[in-house]
Amino acid sequence: MAHICPLCNGFQASEYRCETCGHALEDAGKVTDYLDDYSAYMEIDGLKLVDGYEHSVVEQQCAHVFYCHACQAQEVKLIQE
Ligand SMILES: [Zn+2]
Ligand SMILES: [Zn+2]
Repeated sequence: MAHICPLCNGFQASEYRCETCGHALEDAGKVTDYLDDYSAYMEIDGLKLVDGYEHSVVEQQCAHVFYCHACQAQEVKLIQE
């Protein structure tokens, strides 16, 4: 059963907004592309996850990094299939 992420496959554009300032967030790509830069803790929807989560979480949900150009905030959202 193939994993299909609507953002990765271009089925839909991200519609998330910055929780800090409300500016539209830009989809900056999958978290797995950033793991070298996020070797320690990442905050995902309030959960603190450490290295290894990519195997347990991303298999079912596609974690994307979102970037706010207005306030330089970065957020990680788990994209549901
Ligand atoms: Zn994705
Ligand atoms: Zn912002």
